[in-house]
Amino acid sequence: MASQTRTALVEDLMERFPHVPREAVIKEDLLRGGMAFDESALSGGGADGPGGGDVKPKSYFIFSFDHRTLPELGAAALNRPPEEIVLTGGPYGLRRTVVSVRVNPDSPYVVRGGEDGTLGLYLDGARISDVGLPPMPEYYRHKLSNGKSVMEVAPTIQWGYLIYLTVFRVCQYFGAKEECQFCDINHNWRQHKAAGRPYTGVKPVEEVLEALEIIDRYDTAGISRAYTLTGGSITSQVGGRDEADFYGHYAKAIEERFPGRWTGKVVAQALPRDAVQRFHDYGVKIYHPNFEVWDRRLFQLHCPGKERYVGRDEWHRRILDSAEVFGARNVIPNFVAGIEMAEPFGFTKVGEAIESTTEGLRFFMSHGVVPRFTTWCPEPTTPLGKANPLGAPLEYHIRLLEAYRATLEEFGLSSPPGYGPTGPGRAVFSVSSFMDSLEGLEQPGGDAPAAS
Ligand code: SF4
Repeated sequence: MASQTRTALVEDLMERFPHVPREAVIKEDLLRGGMAFDESALSGGGADGPGGGDVKPKSYFIFSFDHRTLPELGAAALNRPPEEIVLTGGPYGLRRTVVSVRVNPDSPYVVRGGEDGTLGLYLDGARISDVGLPPMPEYYRHKLSNGKSVMEVAPTIQWGYLIYLTVFRVCQYFGAKEECQFCDINHNWRQHKAAGRPYTGVKPVEEVLEALEIIDRYDTAGISRAYTLTGGSITSQVGGRDEADFYGHYAKAIEERFPGRWTGKVVAQALPRDAVQRFHDYGVKIYHPNFEVWDRRLFQLHCPGKERYVGRDEWHRRILDSAEVFGARNVIPNFVAGIEMAEPFGFTKVGEAIESTTEGLRFFMSHGVVPRFTTWCPEPTTPLGKANPLGAPLEYHIRLLEAYRATLEEFGLSSPPGYGPTGPGRAVFSVSSFMDSLEGLEQPGGDAPAAS
């Protein structure tokens, strides 16, 4: 069979799924397969982070989210790409679409300057949209008193909406028998250290507060609305604290210093109820106990540490229990969309993968808990990324958007809080297009967490 061009694949899916926004089709394809950058389109941020450039550089806020390691990326590593790009116009008439940058020098999508000098996104050589770059925020231009950059301590993503506080840069699930098979958190830490980049393993709470003070001072338009506290799982202790107290003590300090300034979220393991209660008492508003993949066998294979320390059934039970502490709307477990189709163990048919994932969505949504998903980036140093450099089929991602929306409607639910606006042209959530495809399903009363 002659191989289909990527353009033909994209257009075929746009035609077959006309109710999925075209923006989402392009965005999912960019997220699963990455984009290349012409040298002229790189930010010039420098290996040590933002200098005097005008473009907000990629911060490597937790995982690498690249299709190559830093040494393999060459110029794209030394001359940082932007954190995100925004697409508009072109032959598909794209409304404003924010996409997280995942670098892949072999991608058929290339960002480069056109003949008139304006940046464009090119697919198979044809220009398909204009490209806007995120401006360097004023707060990135100021350093902490110890010389660290705000980008290193408190980077922002989602076009400045979310402050991403990876306060523990490694995971205590370590090695092949424990690490989640799609995750490169430990490798990303190692590669930044090897490249001599600043990359703090455990962020002191004082540094986080100082960085937030700078953001608060210079974000005069109030674009930053939420912060996420996250990092690796803690199976023993860090600095004498267990997982709930470790992540929670940052929330406590932030809420004491800046009461209610941002919506506090934490991504952590599904913990027993008393630990979840501590998160809540520390001032966290939204809890993300990520379940990663629904299928039982795949969870056991892809998340061996979580299976061994907690177990899938207990993980799910704890998710539902935590709804009693936070309120169901404020418990938002993530899954990594696409890994259920990863070889050698995954589903081989798109329909079967969608059916399995929908079963999981129905399980949680029938209890009022709305999961969300990020689009799998097959990072090359992970077992699943190595075996599946092309990621999951694009059709899977498009049908997932359709199934997700349908299940949300079936249970009379709306978009989860803390992700900004919904719908094409408005969404800012950059690592999947689930918010782009939920037009009309924004929760009444806006984006704030529900009272719990
Ligand atoms: S729990 Fe899994 S996904 Fe989370 S940081 Fe550890 S290895 Fe990565």
